Amino acid sequence: MAYGERGRRTPVVDLADRRALERYRPADPATVAEARRLKEAALLDFGLTESAVASWLYAKCHHQIPTTAVDTAAVVASGDGSCLLLFNPDFFVGLGLDGVKFVLFHEARHLVQRHLFADPELREDPVFELAAEVSINHVALVRLGRPGLPLLDGRPTGIDPRKIHGLYRDDLTAHGLEPVPYEEFVATDMKVYGELKRMAHPPVPERSLCVHLLDGGVPADQETVDAVVSSALLNSLLAARRGHAGAERELLDLMGRTEDGSARAARIWGNLGAGVLRGETARTRAVHWWQRWLVDVLGSKLRDGERLVYPKKRGALLAALGQDPMLSRRGPVRDKVLVIAYDTSGSMPQHVITWLTELVGRIDGVEAHWLSFDAVVMPFTPGERVYGGGGTSFQAVADYVEGRTEVNGRRFDITPDAVVMLTDGYAPPIAPAEPDKWIWLITEGGSEWPETHTPAMDCHRVTTGSR
Ligand SMILES: [Zn+2]
Repeated sequence: MAYGERGRRTPVVDLADRRALERYRPADPATVAEARRLKEAALLDFGLTESAVASWLYAKCHHQIPTTAVDTAAVVASGDGSCLLLFNPDFFVGLGLDGVKFVLFHEARHLVQRHLFADPELREDPVFELAAEVSINHVALVRLGRPGLPLLDGRPTGIDPRKIHGLYRDDLTAHGLEPVPYEEFVATDMKVYGELKRMAHPPVPERSLCVHLLDGGVPADQETVDAVVSSALLNSLLAARRGHAGAERELLDLMGRTEDGSARAARIWGNLGAGVLRGETARTRAVHWWQRWLVDVLGSKLRDGERLVYPKKRGALLAALGQDPMLSRRGPVRDKVLVIAYDTSGSMPQHVITWLTELVGRIDGVEAHWLSFDAVVMPFTPGERVYGGGGTSFQAVADYVEGRTEVNGRRFDITPDAVVMLTDGYAPPIAPAEPDKWIWLITEGGSEWPETHTPAMDCHRVTTGSR
């Protein structure tokens, strides 16, 4: 997905190949530094106020690469299930902070649209493409409080929704039809599309508006888009439920704009349990938010690392450019190691253990290690009875998992990819060597210190029922 009308040429390097991107015609270092600063400032503003969804989406783009291989900015799938954000440093510096925010917001909405409206007939219709540009830019103008499109070299860049509405009004009037006013025209994504379809000559540009829509231009497979966007929506929803008013308003608005006229979009919102924001209770079954949260966090920590990928489609192109169409080196694939440590000093509901056991059993390529702990660590097999003693020490778990202590004469000699701690949280806080890998599930009435600790760690309360 890439912003604006500049990005029309065929990419010169494999856009999913990080190293090739970094090598390709680097921009001057001062420009790169300034572009990075603008990007960071924009994402910070999103996170604090303007768009929880965009903030979460870019948090999922683990690599954010300044490169002149794209003309504007684009989010691409890297082939290992994660996304890269590519941005042209000169483009960002030319736009300034307000422009960068507009473009990044625009890109995030494209991904959300790709997720919600995946119907092939829609995606192939150039009028739908235009409708997406209109709708996305309308929302961006309102949400970011802008009077007009971002300027590049003094000229507005992108599709102006009011201008398109003007053309629509003239077209319909000329053909004896009744146009709807602007506010109605842009009310929902499908409404824009439906109204543009009423035109005798929808103002569809001869060429694609964004590179992402060119055939094979920017790699972004539906599976990756779905995974990344649904994770961003889930996290925004969790933030909204925990009192982030901005996230709540954004999601309510996004839902309202997208759930009409598309069965898929309505189903996605339903499955997400987003109705809770409107005070609707889940009709069929209780929504266990902590379970959804854990699945999402585990998914990101246990994802395959970089895999061996042959860039088939772009092989010929790379060869023509005198580069080896080599295998992108991705390292040996091994099972992911998951540690689940269960605090026996508190009362852990049995259904939590049962659910976790089933969940872990369903994840492919994972080697699970179950530990129980109080003041000391004891490995156990799910189903086996565990006995608690006195005192609790998280440090005992860290010491064992990090290979410093032995249990039953054996040392834990593998590095885990994720450590799940099931506990009430009541014991002296710890600072593990790799805090990013630790996930804390806190029982009801427990302490959520890992969330506010330094370094902060992923933390969620285990609840029963839909809270
Ligand atoms: Zn676009």
